[in-house]
Amino acid sequence: MANILAIGIATLDIINTVEFYPDEDSEQRAISQQQTRGGNATNTLTVLSQLGHQCSWGGVLIDEPDSQIIQRDLENNHIDFAACKRLADGKMPTSYITLNQQTGSRTIVHHRDCPEFSFEDFTQIDLSQFDWVHFEGRNVVETKLMLLHLKQHHPALPCSLEIEKPRPDIESLFDLPTLLLFSQHYAISQGFTDASSLLSSLSTNIIATCAWGNAGAWAIDQHTKLFHSPAFAPKQVIDTLGAGDTFNAGLIDKLVNNTELEQALTYACQLAGHKCGQVGFANLSHTFEA
Ligand code: ADP
Repeated sequence: MANILAIGIATLDIINTVEFYPDEDSEQRAISQQQTRGGNATNTLTVLSQLGHQCSWGGVLIDEPDSQIIQRDLENNHIDFAACKRLADGKMPTSYITLNQQTGSRTIVHHRDCPEFSFEDFTQIDLSQFDWVHFEGRNVVETKLMLLHLKQHHPALPCSLEIEKPRPDIESLFDLPTLLLFSQHYAISQGFTDASSLLSSLSTNIIATCAWGNAGAWAIDQHTKLFHSPAFAPKQVIDTLGAGDTFNAGLIDKLVNNTELEQALTYACQLAGHKCGQVGFANLSHTFEA
């Protein structure tokens, strides 16, 4: 069991499951609707908590009705949110998600009126209690200060950084964390057509992974050795929302316990593939073990 802190956002996800993806300017009735807590960092913590880790979230909570759904879910998942910044005004980030039942694909429209968790907020956290810190790659200026703070004051504390989307100057963070977690979306946005080309383009000594949907994932170690794991398809792909967050949790779970990168990569793909066979994250670790 490790103590793991993640910095990022929690969202309200309103998920409409539809028979097929709608045409523009058409009308369709959803098969079902679900309202859950989402957000990359808190999704990853949900899975890590199920895997037996003590999890804490650092982010922003706004005092509005949707925040209650989010807080209840964090409590149910034993995620501590004492480190959060609390604000009276604004709107929790909300994702309106269309989940296509035929393919499991998810299309997201996002709205927020919520400031980012700042470096100043981060410095209020007692970091000495943690074994791993995970960051969502957003808010580049403040995240850089946090990563530099870790490097200077807690050099032995491992940390991971998720690079999901291109953002101005995000590349300036690449040398700072212990582990970089790239998405296919980021790789394609930079003109790469496969994960290994992105990983091979990084400067040496960077340990990184790049997940690539149903093609599995690739990793590069500090000796610039490349590894690949295939995806592990579930019987039926039901819900790919949060596959990347589950993959990240699987990697952190293994690496915090000093497992080799290649084994950690395979395990992360197995766990993420298993997640794709069910809706959401409930009981993920139990059904996976079974
Ligand atoms: P994201 O959720 O960020 O879009 P990906 O789609 O790249 O992330 O998925 C992350 C990991 O989840 C992949 O590396 C793979 O192991 C697993 N995965 C994703 N889609 C599937 C699928 N259709 N079948 C099996 N595994 C999948």
